[in-house]
This record gives sequence, C-alpha cells and structure tokens, in this order.
Amino acid sequence: MKATVLASGSKGNCTYLEGENTALIIDAGLSARETLTRLECAGGNPELIEGILVTHEHSDHISGLDTLARKLDVPVLATQGTLWEFESKRNPKSRSKEISMIPLKTGNIFEFAGFRIKPFSTYHDAIDPCGFKIVQNDSRFGFCTDTGQITEKMEAELFGCDAVVLESNHCPVMLENGPYPKFLKERIRDKKRGHLSNTAAGEFIKRSNGDIGEIILAHLSQENNTPEKALTSAKTSAGLSVDDILFEVSLQDKVCETIRI
Ligand SMILES: [Zn+2]
Ligand SMILES: [Zn+2]
Repeated sequence: MKATVLASGSKGNCTYLEGENTALIIDAGLSARETLTRLECAGGNPELIEGILVTHEHSDHISGLDTLARKLDVPVLATQGTLWEFESKRNPKSRSKEISMIPLKTGNIFEFAGFRIKPFSTYHDAIDPCGFKIVQNDSRFGFCTDTGQITEKMEAELFGCDAVVLESNHCPVMLENGPYPKFLKERIRDKKRGHLSNTAAGEFIKRSNGDIGEIILAHLSQENNTPEKALTSAKTSAGLSVDDILFEVSLQDKVCETIRI
C-alpha cells in the first residue's frame, strides 16, 4: 500500500490510500475539486478509488463528502451514527441524489475493495467517532486523529502497524497561553471529547517502543502548535527507538510526502 495525507488540520482533512488495484479516501474535508487537484499532485489515481471512509461528522472531515462521493460514484463507509449525521447535514438540493452508505461497526473487521478495514472507537465530541486499522496482504496502516486520548484498546490496533497517521494537535503550553476562550481550551484538552496533545502523542510513541515503522503527525493546530514542536516532541518521546521510526509531519496547505507501507 501507499498513503498520502492530502491535507490535515481543522480546515480540512483528507488522506489517499492506494492498495494493489484499488484505493480509498479517508475523510473528505476539502472541496471535491481541491481533493482531485491534490490527488493528481500526489500521483494518485481517482479511478482506483472504491470508497470513502469517514472518521466522524465534523465539517473539517465531511465538507466535501457529498460532492466527492457523487462525483466518484463510490459509497461512504462510516459508523451508523456518523452516517446519520452526514445524511442530516446534506444540502436538501443534493439530497435527492442518493449516495450509497455502508455502516461500519467499531471492533468488527469489514472486507472491502481488497482491504481489511477495522474501525475502532475514538474519544471526541462527535456522535460515534472512530479511527481505522487497514490491512492488505502483510501491510498494516493505522489512522488515529481527533481523539482526546489513546487507550490500551486503541493501542492494540495501532502497535505493530507499518505506518500510523497520528494526531499531534497542540502544544499544551501554547494552548494555555494562546488566544482561545477558556471553554474552547477546556474542550480541546478534554480526554473524552477533545484532541490529542503533543505530550499525549509522545506518550503513545514511547509506549509503542519502536513497534511502528513510520509515524505521520497530523491534525496540527495552526494556532496552538508548530510542526517543529510536534516533531521534536515525538522524536524525544521515541527515545532509543528514534532511529528505527520514520517521522513525517502532515500539514493543512501542503500535500504530504507519499509513504510506502
Ligand atoms: Zn478534525
Ligand atoms: Zn473533529
């Protein structure tokens, strides 16, 4: 497999995952046009895409979903709660055009387009948010953003992956001293429904003990983080395993380096 994070952050998230003869999109928070432009830049092939996986219904993950799913004529795969929320948010004009939706159950493996997809629950202020472990042949890819914490159950899915897209949302010090109102700071820090800090991402990396081949830091806050801070924190946390892990930082405005899994 190969994966390219086309965009990552609170203004839009989208990742392209290509397997042997098929491909998936994970989250569709860019406009359909921007998604296809970036896909072309990344050397991806839209004709291979067979489905769009969605982590949760926040607009930075679904704002382009309706158009993209219709344009590519592929189903949307997400938990039932996310699908209901998406359906209710659809523009009445486009709602008359049906989109095929496939409900996924967290904890259950779903075979689709040559991929084994296992969604797992995350901790976020959405109806039924999830991350994904996606396997093809011997390649294992993990996707875990928009979560206030990573539990042991989630670690069981992510440890051992060849590559993981991992949220590293904010530097706790920058968030504390930053411009956000108190309620928003508290929401972001909330373990049950917020976002993962550089520190929490670092603790996860430390616990993984070098058992993840490549880590792509993702969903960095543009106000409360910097790519340098996120990367330094992740590398420091890796300790002696630092040379065994490849690190990338995905950004909002730039297509990330394609990684081979
Ligand atoms: Zn998000
Ligand atoms: Zn979110």
